[in-house]
Amino acid sequence: MVDLLALLNSPVPVLDRGWIELIDAMPHPSSGVSADNVVVSSARVSRLGESKGAEADRKLIHYLMRHKHLSPFEHVVFTFRLKAPLVVWWQWVRHRTASYNLMSGRYVELPEDEYYIPETWRLQALHNRQASAGELPSDAAERLTAELSAHIARGHALYKQALALGVAREQARLFLSGFSVYYIGYITQNLRNAFHFLRLRMAEDAQYEIRAYATAMYQSFVKPFAPICCEAWESLGQGGDE
Ligand SMILES: Cc1cc2nc3c(=O)[nH]c(=O)nc-3n(C[C@H](O)[C@H](O)[C@H](O)COP(=O)(O)OP(=O)(O)OC[C@H]3O[C@@H](n4cnc5c(N)ncnc54)[C@H](O)[C@@H]3O)c2cc1C
Repeated sequence: MVDLLALLNSPVPVLDRGWIELIDAMPHPSSGVSADNVVVSSARVSRLGESKGAEADRKLIHYLMRHKHLSPFEHVVFTFRLKAPLVVWWQWVRHRTASYNLMSGRYVELPEDEYYIPETWRLQALHNRQASAGELPSDAAERLTAELSAHIARGHALYKQALALGVAREQARLFLSGFSVYYIGYITQNLRNAFHFLRLRMAEDAQYEIRAYATAMYQSFVKPFAPICCEAWESLGQGGDE
């Protein structure tokens, strides 16, 4: 039996300096009502949401997913807080069915050591313009990593120099190594839309970095929280949200 309360405020590391944590959820883990029950109850609203026993409830969830009666999954809601590099946020915010709040580089000075440096350098795929395939050999990779670190350090030093001259934070940040800067943000999304996000971003053709966050979100939080809904979703090859 998973301790759902323990899932709250327990960040899971992602990439070199990032993490994702579940801040809040509906139903709240302390309510004693499971997310799977909420889906069943809302689908059976005409009968005042009565459970017909574990096996019948499970079959109902599978039926709903299979036949794309997806609105009951909208009554389960997650709020995540995560620290991710801008290259990940850039893709994540395209998912319009989530609500977002992000820290503001206009409001606070961005810290010195909060940049993403990849462990490996992937090579450009030859047959897919958006994808990567294989890795740069280690000696060249080490050189490139050192170059990126130096580039980040130089950009950050210029940022500090601009701030010291009195330049506004909103403009001084033009010097930063943009795509690699880590930002902290909040995301709230219901389960139906989370499945849609996860199907797209856990897929093989999603960029590795966002796939790492989507996988952590699913495995560490969504699946323990709504296990039967996830079982039904997985049984359709993760295509159940369409
Ligand atoms: C592998 C991959 C590569 C990508 N490459 C690019 C790229 O090169 N360039 C680029 O710009 N984007 C790219 N994207 C982003 C992609 O086009 C979508 O914006 C993103 O995946 C969000 O999907 P969505 O619109 O279905 O999700 P959401 O925004 O969460 O919307 C969910 C669903 O709600 C409905 N919906 C939401 N808003 C509207 C609306 N305004 N009108 C009608 N229906 C709506 C649609 O049915 C939609 O599927 C890529 C995504 C992936 C996964």
